[in-house]
Amino acid sequence: MTDYAIEDLTASAYRIPTPGPEADGTLHWDGTTIVVVQVRCGGVTGLGWTYANEACVELVHGVLADELRGRDVLDTPACWHAMQRRVRNLGRVGLVSCAMSAVDIALWDAAARLREMPLCRLLGRVHDRVDVYGSGGFTTYDDPRLSAHLEDWVGTRGIPRVKIKIGEGWGTAVERDIARVARTRQVAGATAEVYVDANGAYSAAQAARVGARLAEWNVTWFEEPVSSDDLDGLRRVRDAVPADVAAGEYGYDLPYFRRMIDNDSVDCVQVDVTRCGGYTEWLRITALAAAANLEVSAHCAPNVSVPAAVATANFRHVEWFADHDRIEPMLFTGTLDPSGGWVEPDLSAPGHGLALSADAADSYRLR
Ligand SMILES: [Mg+2]
Repeated sequence: MTDYAIEDLTASAYRIPTPGPEADGTLHWDGTTIVVVQVRCGGVTGLGWTYANEACVELVHGVLADELRGRDVLDTPACWHAMQRRVRNLGRVGLVSCAMSAVDIALWDAAARLREMPLCRLLGRVHDRVDVYGSGGFTTYDDPRLSAHLEDWVGTRGIPRVKIKIGEGWGTAVERDIARVARTRQVAGATAEVYVDANGAYSAAQAARVGARLAEWNVTWFEEPVSSDDLDGLRRVRDAVPADVAAGEYGYDLPYFRRMIDNDSVDCVQVDVTRCGGYTEWLRITALAAAANLEVSAHCAPNVSVPAAVATANFRHVEWFADHDRIEPMLFTGTLDPSGGWVEPDLSAPGHGLALSADAADSYRLR
């Protein structure tokens, strides 16, 4: 045991209903589940989370806490490798990686708090601030709702980058997709960057045809035009369309990103710090991307992405996803304001500066 031995890990799951039905090209949902992890050591509490099923709670309380109790939190990468070895027979990708990510984020936060320094400086800051883009534009929105949503991002909050969902009904409503893109360009104005995300709804040939039409509206980001399992399909679309092709939100480990990068599948690598294995794996994935002269964009979970984002030289922008934009200020104190189109970490706060608002969260608690 050391002075900084991990005493305990706890996890809780919360489900926050959406304000109305939400959907993208391939999925509908009416609520968001977040699993929050807290680690206690040396008189501080480290905080992490993942947007994943409540089954992660059992993984944290079981194998991960069992493996980590008594280890020195300042040896954060050693803790990560201990978890990685421990989950061999559980299957690393998927929920296990989500649970590991939430724990790794909490460990890094605790390590920074013990050193009484901001987490971004412990990770090694490169940028003072990073750009964000407003993300949402669900296919369930009617025209007035979509316009109000976009006006909020671009007009009210001054974020000059917006992304909407397309690929409605597994690519069966292309004319409506294009009409919604046209509306987005109209509301966002000529100079804002307009992005689209098909969530894997199209075939490669269909995505190439859609991508040609998107050029008319100066769409510069085409996310998951085909399934991100189809690395060759992504590359074919990339070769055919003017927009940057992006994917990576379902990347749960370093070898997946190596395959994606080696295959020339994307122009920009998306990494979700709450899925990929936390900050420890983020640092390795972003280095892999840098070696291929690629930039990285943070997928979702904006407030815990920012410390890693400012510590990544080849970083492009943080996705400020509508559901998480609503949830994170409800459940946590110390959240950042993306108004103006960029954020910077609070250098006066130790760790990532976030804390759970237990009273506010309790009404949404699942377990
Ligand atoms: Mg996406």
